[in-house]
Amino acid sequence: MRVTLLEKDDLMARFIVEGINAPLANTLRRIILSEVPTMAIDDVVIYENSSVLHDEILALRLGLIPLKTDLDSYNLPEKCTCGSELGCPLCRAILTLDVKANRGVRTVYSGDLVPENPNIAPVSDKIPIVKLVAGQRIRLEAYAKLGRGKVHAKWQPVSACTYRYKPIVMIDYLRCNSCGKCVEVCPRRVLAKEGDKVVVARGMDCILCTDCVRVCEKKPRPINISWDENAFIFYIESTGALPVDRIIFEALKIYEEKYLEFINLLEGLIDESKKD
Ligand code: SF4
Ligand code: SF4
Ligand SMILES: [Zn+2]
Repeated sequence: MRVTLLEKDDLMARFIVEGINAPLANTLRRIILSEVPTMAIDDVVIYENSSVLHDEILALRLGLIPLKTDLDSYNLPEKCTCGSELGCPLCRAILTLDVKANRGVRTVYSGDLVPENPNIAPVSDKIPIVKLVAGQRIRLEAYAKLGRGKVHAKWQPVSACTYRYKPIVMIDYLRCNSCGKCVEVCPRRVLAKEGDKVVVARGMDCILCTDCVRVCEKKPRPINISWDENAFIFYIESTGALPVDRIIFEALKIYEEKYLEFINLLEGLIDESKKD
């Protein structure tokens, strides 16, 4: 397996993985979406809510606010020894909200939530939750817990996680007359004119639409679009809950655990069948 990084910052990464097949690429995508844990608000104790939103809708909105996650300091609730419904300091972080509109309309934002642990705070302060008119108040305690995307999408660590085949764009210069029609039609500016020649300028941006092949009038066509069945371009975008490299690291760790579990199960079954 060979990995080539195309671009990366804290929140997103685009990279090529060569030497794997589609089932493995999809396994990694699904583990990232459904197995890598993040923090999200799961229980809310509402002391006062005179806003227009019902308590349930308010709690749902709070749950969907991405929270910064500290995977090293908290247990998954099912793995914590406390066994408590609302959790303990090892498996939950409390955020409080107490906002009252005194005059005019007051919008309550995610930044109004006060975290007991600054490492478990909203990723953005600017997510609107509800509007209050003069006299209305919201006072509540929210319990954030680790969870997985397979239980609820609020625990997904990514807002995008995709892969596609690595494209191969080839031009046969013995037959190409450099008319440039393929350059004009390409929606991703993959092809460009360099002097009298048409060149592949940004091959990795090709979306395999084949418009360039269809517009070419030469027969047989000098331009050919194909893909490598064992190479994939991944695009991963974090919600901000975890840095993107931590998401990938955790996904690979979970993959390894699942693989070992499967091998042990298989060995157990083989041993059983030998006894028969
Ligand atoms: S449309 Fe065909 S002939 Fe014209 S530049 Fe492109 S590949 Fe060459
Ligand atoms: S297949 Fe589509 S995106 Fe790729 S080079 Fe041709 S026109 Fe451009
Ligand atoms: Zn606990």
